Amino acid sequence: MLRIATLLPDLLGTYGDGGNATVLVARARARGIACEVVEMRRNDAVPTASLYLMGGGEDGPQRLACEVLRASNFGERVRDGAQVFAVCAGLQILGRHFSVEGDDEFEGLGLVDIATRRGTTRSVGDLCAKVDGRLMVGFENHGGVTTLGDGLVAFGDVVRGRGNDGVVDGFRTESLWATYAHGPVLAQNPWLADKILESALGETLEPFTSVADRLYEERCRELSPRSGFEDRRRDPH
Ligand code: GLN
Repeated sequence: MLRIATLLPDLLGTYGDGGNATVLVARARARGIACEVVEMRRNDAVPTASLYLMGGGEDGPQRLACEVLRASNFGERVRDGAQVFAVCAGLQILGRHFSVEGDDEFEGLGLVDIATRRGTTRSVGDLCAKVDGRLMVGFENHGGVTTLGDGLVAFGDVVRGRGNDGVVDGFRTESLWATYAHGPVLAQNPWLADKILESALGETLEPFTSVADRLYEERCRELSPRSGFEDRRRDPH
């Protein structure tokens, strides 16, 4: 049984990222894999799971979510080998520190060597990045600019939008996957949902094609240079 836990959807759930859990479950079950989703709310203990999902959130709830997780054994679960897929505020929380309202610096979970400061502009709009040779499409809405520590691998190269800093988006370690893309991003990029499932299960999945895969292919055709799509990176600052 694959157990997926959504962390604090009551705080990190304003951008539809809960849909990522729905997509993962649907694609696992489509292959006959038993799968369940549990939710950790503010006063709950961290449930046991092989995959944790963290969504985006507004500045205040993001700080609170970070406090709750810092006081929990979530870090131990990650160090014990659980996988985490984090979006935006979730991404920032995993790092060393982030600044949200004003210039306040806030201590993160310190599970990865990244730091997020406040940019001079908010980034709102389409986010496209090349991830392992494929296009990841999504939507971003954040004020943070994230810097990766030396040697840390980015999740993808930004083609449109800002991601971390206008050049790369997110980061990837053995157990952590993180991006600035909402959407929910796994509904828009079903191939990515499959990669995460494969990693959490430790096995290769049977091919499966749904309407979401066809819509993804259509979106990519729209975004091809032949159809007039230009690489429009924004100034990160
Ligand atoms: N509060 C964070 C920021 O603005 C994250 C926003 C989000 O999760 N969309 O940078």
